[in-house]
Amino acid sequence: MLKFNKKTIKGEFFVTGLTSVLIISMIFIALTLGSVYMLRLENARQTLKTANLHIATYTDGVLESLVMSTKTNAAFPGAMDYDSDNYLAQSGLLQLFAATTRANPNIKYSFAGYEDGSLLIEGYVPPVGYDARLRPWYTSAVERYPDISVGLPYQDAKTEEWLVSVSLAMVDDEGQLIGVMAVDCTLEYVKSLMLQATYFDSQTNYVLDKNRQVLVHKNRGFLHQSADTFVPGLSQQFSADAGFIHYNLQGTKKLAYYKNLKSSDWMIVSAIDVSEVTVPIIVMLIYSVIGLVFLSVVLAIGQVKLYEKRFVKPINLLRDHIDELTLGKDIRQLSTQYSYSNSELAEIASRIVEMATKSLKKKTDDLKLILDATSDAILVLSVGAQVIHMNEKYADIQADLSRALEGDGPMSDRLFSRKEILDMVYLEDGQVLEQYTCPVLENGELIGQLWRYRDVTDRVRAEENLKKLATTDELTGLWNRRYFLERGVVEVGVQGRTGLPLSLLFIDLDYFKRVNDTYGHMAGDEVLRCVAKMLRSSVRSTDLAARLGGEEFCVLLPNTHLVAAIQLTEKLRAYFDVHACPVSDEQIRCTISVGVATYTSENDGSFEDLLAKADQACYRAKDNGRNCVAS
Ligand code: GH3
Ligand code: MG
Ligand code: MG
Repeated sequence: MLKFNKKTIKGEFFVTGLTSVLIISMIFIALTLGSVYMLRLENARQTLKTANLHIATYTDGVLESLVMSTKTNAAFPGAMDYDSDNYLAQSGLLQLFAATTRANPNIKYSFAGYEDGSLLIEGYVPPVGYDARLRPWYTSAVERYPDISVGLPYQDAKTEEWLVSVSLAMVDDEGQLIGVMAVDCTLEYVKSLMLQATYFDSQTNYVLDKNRQVLVHKNRGFLHQSADTFVPGLSQQFSADAGFIHYNLQGTKKLAYYKNLKSSDWMIVSAIDVSEVTVPIIVMLIYSVIGLVFLSVVLAIGQVKLYEKRFVKPINLLRDHIDELTLGKDIRQLSTQYSYSNSELAEIASRIVEMATKSLKKKTDDLKLILDATSDAILVLSVGAQVIHMNEKYADIQADLSRALEGDGPMSDRLFSRKEILDMVYLEDGQVLEQYTCPVLENGELIGQLWRYRDVTDRVRAEENLKKLATTDELTGLWNRRYFLERGVVEVGVQGRTGLPLSLLFIDLDYFKRVNDTYGHMAGDEVLRCVAKMLRSSVRSTDLAARLGGEEFCVLLPNTHLVAAIQLTEKLRAYFDVHACPVSDEQIRCTISVGVATYTSENDGSFEDLLAKADQACYRAKDNGRNCVAS
């Protein structure tokens, strides 16, 4: 299923596409379905009207035929010469009546009434006391003369059945009323016609007489009631010869067409429920709206698909393209993968790519300038260990560096470590580099690593010199007093832990003042240097020879017993006794007095105590006449 996020291009396309399609659809629906509604409504009105006119025409036809029969019968030669005793004349008329009834199936009875109150009819025996002159069909015909009375309803005197009569007064040449010729029919035929001529389920056809009373209606409850009793004010609406009216019957909206008959005072009314016409149209409208909305959504989705293919995808491809470009991939290789839906888009894309390439190149060039301008060697690696940046200085030292780092195990540990690490790399040519690595992070994510090498040879050398100055005696190059005392404390600690013996020689040159006095202070210094040289060459590399100050020297002998120390010291004394120092043209001999002390256990105290012991022993050696060893 498609996912439509409003914030995506696709989502925006969908929303705007759907909105426009919906607006167009709604306008279409409003215009088209509005007119469809009107047409359908008009069509229903015409159908109703046609049904009504059919009934009216047919009813008119029936009534006309009754009129014709009545007129024909009235014109019969014997009709006026009625004589109650003349049976022959009567039988002639009765034969006519029988023929009339046979000829027109709508006629129930064909008959005549006369001024003497008698009734001439076949197959009907009037009740006792019957007076034709008092019957409605008779009085109506007399009233209407010379016109014919059509459609007067009345109740049969015997059966009380409702009948409709067509009657015509018969008047002789002197204007004397002779009688009334009539036919009648039940209303059943009109009723069956009313029931048949329906085009709508809810259609009801009914007949109103001239008093607007219901003459024919399928519902007996309405019969012979005034139209106004079931719909107040309804009769006033029948103002024209024919037309449409609206009324409300027991809460149901009705649409009716009425038509006055030509042949009588009757009116045919055809009524339907308005809802029968409007509901299907409204249902159709609802379905149409649903269909159109569905179609709109389908169209909008289709539109989105098209836009997506033609615009969104190429734009997203362009974005990926730029991403890859930024990562430093070769665009010329990529460019063939991209094609754009139209030339405008293609041109915009190529401009963007061009701009991105240019600005990236400028940035890269600027960066290169900066990197090359720094005195440090810089290397930036991607997490894939690809070289992202490398300045000239790095290129220069790369070979020396890899030689120096060859087989360096911790190197792999520091590769892509998230920590900053600072240490030293010693190149074969003596150059010392400070190696600094740090992670390159982007939004907290490791994307690479920076390696920086700085030449710190001078600084390291200076530091080494300082250190040397701090620990060595300037004149002789032996360890100085400070360093010696430090080391002495350390060695006493070692002795305490290991239990190995530690011996100390305290050496003082004999009558050195004299040397100075005789040969000068410079020569004295030279002798001190010579003594230091001889001392250094006489002791083991593990021994520590130092000048404590003036012409006093000390030698610390780790792992050496007192006996061994005395033996060594005796050899040393003997050596100084016979070897002279060459100073200018002179050979200056200088003997030594040595105090020996040994540290054997923790009870012996501190290094200072040991030094004091050796110093005192030296005094004793002096006291013993010099050029000797005391312990
Ligand atoms: P002793 O046998 O009693 O040790 O006699 P000494 O003359 O050597 O006496 P002492 O050790 O008391 O004197 C040390 C002399 O060493 C004093 C000084 O003239 C000399 N001296 C001390 N430091 C230096 C130095 O740095 N250079 C030179 N040339 N002479 C020094
Ligand atoms: Mg001295
Ligand atoms: Mg001395």
